[in-house]
Amino acid sequence: MKAEIIAVGSELLTPFRQDTNSLFLTERLNELGVEVHFKTVVGDSRADLVAVARIAMTRADIVILMGGLGPTEDDLTRECVAEALGIELHRDPEIITELYKRFAERRMKMPENNTRQADVLDGAVLLRNPNGTAPAQWLQTNWEGDRRYLMLLPGPPQELKPLFDSQCLPRLKEVLPPQFISKRVLKVAMGESACDARIAPLYTKVPNVQTTILAHGGEVEIHLQSRADRQEEAERRVEELAGELEEELDDCVISSGGESLEQIVGYYLQMRGATLAVAESCSGGMMAERITSVPGSSRYFLGGAVVYSNELKTKLAGVPAKLIAEHGAVSREVAVALAEGIRERTKATFGVGITGIAGPTGGTPEKPVGLVYIALSDGKDNEVVERRLHGDRERIRLWASFTGLDLIRRKLI
Ligand code: ATP
Repeated sequence: MKAEIIAVGSELLTPFRQDTNSLFLTERLNELGVEVHFKTVVGDSRADLVAVARIAMTRADIVILMGGLGPTEDDLTRECVAEALGIELHRDPEIITELYKRFAERRMKMPENNTRQADVLDGAVLLRNPNGTAPAQWLQTNWEGDRRYLMLLPGPPQELKPLFDSQCLPRLKEVLPPQFISKRVLKVAMGESACDARIAPLYTKVPNVQTTILAHGGEVEIHLQSRADRQEEAERRVEELAGELEEELDDCVISSGGESLEQIVGYYLQMRGATLAVAESCSGGMMAERITSVPGSSRYFLGGAVVYSNELKTKLAGVPAKLIAEHGAVSREVAVALAEGIRERTKATFGVGITGIAGPTGGTPEKPVGLVYIALSDGKDNEVVERRLHGDRERIRLWASFTGLDLIRRKLI
């Protein structure tokens, strides 16, 4: 089944208002096994609205229009849909009575315009809107011999959401074939395009699994989803493809159940009864922020220092001033000394040091913007990686903190 969502309202074509309802509706429809193939945003223009409604009927089984059900002249959804479908509207006397009652309760006279809200498409079922005046409508109809399900919903999210959940979902469930869904999210420490290139050839190995790759905060998420008429079948397909991907991506897989890198690092540290401290220069505390975003991180994270100036690198993390003078603050040697220094001072099992040039200024030909050193010390061995990161200051700092976390993950894997 294909769905099309049409958001009606000229304000949604300005920079000031966004169509957020369609995100909600897409999530709900996906859960029912319905794919949204088209989303349209259309202004309050009669001709445009008739045209998009007609186009939607030709290409989608489920068409949801939202907004434009109000009482004013520019609320045109009802009449435009009637025109597009070639059907009539009739005025529902019960709704008119209700509208009058509503206004009377508020000691207000109802403007004549409001009676437009009682216009119903012939053959449609009215869906009460307890949070607003405009009732919604559900219509089962045919378009050139094919079955169509059409919904007219109010625009305000606080009206649309409860109405859809309580009155449209049950109706859709009745008419749609039962579908079972299995989902899985793999998180991967790898660039988005490199990851895609590695796994794209594997997609076809297991048919009927939908894959989506999203880059997110330094890590890549691979979303797998399958639908079938039996739950076991949907799960089997997802598990099979997840297994193939995990084997291919090997130690780049951070987690196969959607856990974040900082959560995984937390698990590993706890499993070992180990602790961690960090000394961060260019990442300015971002790594500590990520670690402490996980509830319970006090069990393994001791703390750290943001050592931006050379003086504090020496004072708080014990980096010899001579070492900084010799190699520069952004160097392999200083990264290691930061990791070792903070570990020693805090008596943590592991210390991480991060130093680099986040830009946009401060780069030189030998040490360009984006050059970052990240070191890990466990008291016996030191590991240090050099990264030449691209992008703006925020991205460089984000990647530096990501790499620090990933160093620990790989060490403990
Ligand atoms: P009502 O008469 O109850 O206000 P309506 O169907 O006429 O309902 P609109 O007038 O089109 O609704 O929209 C009212 C408000 O709802 C808009 O100003 C906007 O804030 C919000 N809204 C409309 N459509 C959307 C959408 N697709 N996503 C998010 N918000 C929306």
